[in-house]
Amino acid sequence: MNKNIYWPWAIKNIVDIACFTALAVYFDRWWIALFAALFVSTLKTNIGNYRICDKCGKHSPHATTYNDAIDVAEAAGWIGEVIDGKRYDYCPDCKEELDAVCK
Ligand SMILES: [Zn+2]
Repeated sequence: MNKNIYWPWAIKNIVDIACFTALAVYFDRWWIALFAALFVSTLKTNIGNYRICDKCGKHSPHATTYNDAIDVAEAAGWIGEVIDGKRYDYCPDCKEELDAVCK
């Protein structure tokens, strides 16, 4: 993940978890802490729309939705293929290597 995006995201998650934990302790309701998990996972899906190269693990550019992530990745030279219902993505570097192997 891009470090510039990751740090504010990580700090925000920590702040969220701390706030909800404080609320849970203050109101003596443990389940309030569960909302923190909800918030964290929402943030994750908002920011985690990118493809990961199945060969080298490189991340594609980020996008706001899953479908945008595929479009953005393909515009950046990535390729994706579906084998047995699972999607595989390859970055431009690995795509070249794969092409070389296939020829
Ligand atoms: Zn790669």
